[in-house]
Amino acid sequence: MRFATAPADVLARLDALRAGDAPTHGGHVLSYVYDSGEPELDELAAAAIRTMQPVNGLDPTTFGSVAALERDLVAFTRTLLGGDDDVVGTVTSGGTESCLLAVKTARDAWLAARGLEPGAARPRLVAPVTVHAAFQKAAHYFGLALDLLPVGDDGAVAAGTVAERLGDDVALVVVSAPSYPHAALDPVVEVAAAASAAGIPVHVDACIGGMALPFWPGLPAWDLRVPGVTSLSVDLHKYGYAPKGVSVLLHRGRDRQRGQYFATTRWPGYPVVNPTLLGSRSGGPLAAAWAITHALGHDGFAELAGRSYRATAALVEAVRAIEGLRVVGDPTGPLLAVATDDTVAPERRVDPHVWADAVAGHGWVLQAQPSCAQPDGTVLPHTTHLTVTPVTERVLDALVPALVAAADDVRGTPRPDAGAVVAPLAAALSGGAGHGADAGTGAGPLDSATAGAVLGGLGLDPSRIGDDGPGVGPMAPLLAAVETLPAPVAERLLVELLARLVEPR
Ligand SMILES: *Cc1c(COP(=O)(O)O)cnc(C)c1O
Repeated sequence: MRFATAPADVLARLDALRAGDAPTHGGHVLSYVYDSGEPELDELAAAAIRTMQPVNGLDPTTFGSVAALERDLVAFTRTLLGGDDDVVGTVTSGGTESCLLAVKTARDAWLAARGLEPGAARPRLVAPVTVHAAFQKAAHYFGLALDLLPVGDDGAVAAGTVAERLGDDVALVVVSAPSYPHAALDPVVEVAAAASAAGIPVHVDACIGGMALPFWPGLPAWDLRVPGVTSLSVDLHKYGYAPKGVSVLLHRGRDRQRGQYFATTRWPGYPVVNPTLLGSRSGGPLAAAWAITHALGHDGFAELAGRSYRATAALVEAVRAIEGLRVVGDPTGPLLAVATDDTVAPERRVDPHVWADAVAGHGWVLQAQPSCAQPDGTVLPHTTHLTVTPVTERVLDALVPALVAAADDVRGTPRPDAGAVVAPLAAALSGGAGHGADAGTGAGPLDSATAGAVLGGLGLDPSRIGDDGPGVGPMAPLLAAVETLPAPVAERLLVELLARLVEPR
């Protein structure tokens, strides 16, 4: 075989591209990546992927290894998360797929119980506003009405707020353990009691917390030990330290779980039986997660969670000691959100997004989160998110001084005036702004040419992104613009940005 490019040259090109990425190891990026700090685990995962590389997870009857690995992972997570023999599950491609399938399964059960076809009714999905965006996507994809509920200052929903919204048209209640934006643990016991009394299933989204909270001290019950919790999602590509592409969705009750499957014998090809959204799928991430889980065992996960716990406690303490910043609520799990401390004088305040940009200047990447208007009219402030991993404990001596120095750099500096950021775009946006779009789609309200021009006006040239290192530049102005623009416009602009990023140059 004569290759167009020698394999060694292809790999060299790949290495060069990777060199421009944000670092995945070493704890400098406090979101997206979950570094155990144990290189041996990464090597193990790579070897496991290589072994499984040619296998098609589509058919575990032909490739029995896939069934064996999946069975083991379901068993491990079920035991860890308090499930008994009545709890069954599947491995999915990630948290979003687990959440989508939890909603689809509940919707279909709700329809079947009423003898309705999909589309004949629009049941409600009840969840706090802090629930992961994957549930907005699920409601959008599967035709449910999203009923988002306000949370308190600590980021958790009150059980009474959920109880008030229960009714016969509710297909599923979702709570988080903990929530991604604020690390708030919702009151699972109380919500599940109210929902089960009304005959409504409850999903606990433990995508981020499921492999860490079992080792957190002093928590109320939040997992499958709680009566009334009917399903739970846990990502192994987060605190299971596996490469991306693996999550577990557990259901209480075989019959409930069977509704997750899609099966058809009504085409001229092979009989299709899929537990997940995908057809053909890689056995690689599954094998990697399996290998890591076996290598670590319960005690290994406990040790790594202990490192994350100590690092989180140290960061919470460090941020609380910084004048002008505050930690939102009382974070439960290895993550936290940081907001402005409004109790100090304006000139002593630190804006969390301006701070995050300054922290980036010191070599640490934090994640900016926009403010959010709640359904009751209150507003959740804009914050900066930190995901803490076992490796964080090792780098605290460098990270904490950077957080402090960055705050000193920008104390008293307000965030960019969003009006000023957005004003030059008014002409381009007039007419289309604020209507015509279904939230979540790229279908409106601007066309691609207008959206592209607006991005240029915001100083974002998708054809240049990545050329000067990772990221799109300072986050504070971008997030300020996102908050100020009508949501359908902001969403459309972000769609345009991401779409243009992969257009052939
Ligand atoms: C990460 C996360 C998800 C979605 O998971 P992906 O793996 O990114 O698809 C859902 N819920 C919570 C709470 C999460 O943290």
